[in-house]
Order: sequence, then C-alpha cells, then structure tokens
Amino acid sequence: MGHNDNRTLLIDPVAAPNLWQCCRSVGSALTGALRPRRPDHRFLASLPDNGLPRGTTTVELTVLAQNARSVPTAVIVEGVFTPRRIESAMTAFAVRHPKATFLVDPGICVDVNEQAVAELPPVLRRAVTPPSNIIDIRESLHSSGIDAEAIDFALPTHLHWDHVAGLLDLPGLPLRLHRPEHDWAMTGPVAPVGGVRRAVRERPLDYYDLDGPPVLAFARSHDLFGDGAVVLVDLSGHTPGSVGVLLRTDRGPVLLAGDAIWHNLQVEELRQKSGYPGMLADNDRTATWRTVHRLHAIRGGVRIIPSHDHQAACAWRESRAV
Ligand SMILES: [Zn+2]
Repeated sequence: MGHNDNRTLLIDPVAAPNLWQCCRSVGSALTGALRPRRPDHRFLASLPDNGLPRGTTTVELTVLAQNARSVPTAVIVEGVFTPRRIESAMTAFAVRHPKATFLVDPGICVDVNEQAVAELPPVLRRAVTPPSNIIDIRESLHSSGIDAEAIDFALPTHLHWDHVAGLLDLPGLPLRLHRPEHDWAMTGPVAPVGGVRRAVRERPLDYYDLDGPPVLAFARSHDLFGDGAVVLVDLSGHTPGSVGVLLRTDRGPVLLAGDAIWHNLQVEELRQKSGYPGMLADNDRTATWRTVHRLHAIRGGVRIIPSHDHQAACAWRESRAV
C-alpha cells in the first residue's frame, strides 16, 4: 500500500453536498429572497414560557476577540435586504463560573484554511472562507487577557468545524459534549466536513443529556453546575444535538445560540437562513425553523448572541464599558 493510500485512510468520510443539493440550495435562496418562509403563528402561540432557571450564582461572560467580514444581508437572512450588508464573524466565548472556566465554540485554529476549510467542498468553501486577518483561539485568548492554562474544558454548541477547529491548538483540553451530537458527528456514517473528528479525538470527553425540565420556551435542559447559572437548552435542527448555552450574568440572562440562527435579524423578523448556504448548513430545515420561533418567543427577556453575529458580540463587549 503506497503512501497516498495510507493518507486516504486517515481522512474522514465527509458529508459533502452533491450537485443536486447545491442546485436546490441556490434555487431556494432565489425563491426565498422573493417569498420568504411564512412564520407559523399557531406554533408560536402554543409555546409555553417556563421561566428562567432559579438561583443567584452568576457567571462572567467574555466575548473573545475576532475580526469580522462584511456580507450581503440577503445571503444570511432570507428575504431581508435592509441593511444591505451585515458583519459576520466566528466568535468564541469564555465563561467564568465559580467552579470552572470554560470555552464555548473555540472555532479557529492556526492555519484554519489548511486545517479545516481546505476539506470543505468548493461550493461551501466559497461561502465560508474566513477573512485573512482571522484570529486563532490562542491569540484571541491572549488578546482578551485570558490565560489558556486556566481553561478547564470546552463546550461546543454543536460539532461543526468552525466551532471546534480551535481545539486542534488546545491538545488535551477536556470536552463536554451533548451525547446525541457526539453520536451523530463521531459515529455516524459520514462526518461533518472540515476535520471535526480530528478536533474531538484524543482528549477527555464528558457527556451530558438534556434530561432536565423545560426552560423558557425550550422543552429540555441540562443544568451544568446544578445552580441555574449555566443551563444548556435544546436548539436542535441546525444539527441533531445543537444546544444553546443560557447564562445568568450580572447584566441579565444571555443565550449563546450557536448556529440555530446566524444573525439576530432572523429572530426579530422571524426569518430562516437564506437557502444558500443555509440549506447546506442546516441538518433539518423544519426543526431549525421551529427553533427560530422559540428564540423569537424569548427575545424580549434574554439577550441572544448567535456565534456569527458580530454586532451582537460587540454589543455585549460594549455594554460592559457602560
Ligand atoms: Zn454550524
């Protein structure tokens, strides 16, 4: 067996979209721009409000430094053209709880284009290639004044490359994983694209299930420390085990929403992601749409920070200065 054959064995099978899926995605983006998916008002009205978790412990949330790129709004949010462009980034977060400090979505490693983006199919690569001045997780921690050695574990909202690739630069850092998400990404017939399995392997893994009571408009939850300060909620759809990280901070409740939405305009206007690249990114488009409704229902009482919404990330950073 030659060298190339050995190399091939090390590369995960990837869930690359085929030509038909790509055509459908672009077609859906075009029709969706003109006739966006209609909100399900009956479903919205049926959503209960189970309230926030009880307790008094608070956490400190730090939005880690990252550079954004400007993208047309209509490529992110279906049928929304105003403002014409929005700022998109791949934000990681540090959360300091009295019992532990952890990272949410350490997505960017050194040489992320070679390590992860190069493994994406060209049609996706075009849509997601990061800006050349993107900041890797170690540099981002450093410039945010956080000691990488002080991090106890990482907690991804879901297992897509741009939320876990930074783990490649944090060898041995333990990982907390939603069990169904782990099973989908690590043992399913095809891996998510972009080296996800490499980032997750060879480190201590700790699993949780959403076996706790309903919270806000979410049917299931998991209280990470048992004090209501960090509660994981079900945001499935984008991936089968996507979670939101609900934090009690001294500036009010915050939900780190991962990729359930790409921008808060989706929650305000009740819109799904644009068909391209949304159809290629969301595992279950209808379940994702329901999750958008749940986020819309809670928007008045909780600050929502989607991973790629640079404006929401900056607004949190600036609110600290006030
Ligand atoms: Zn994602």
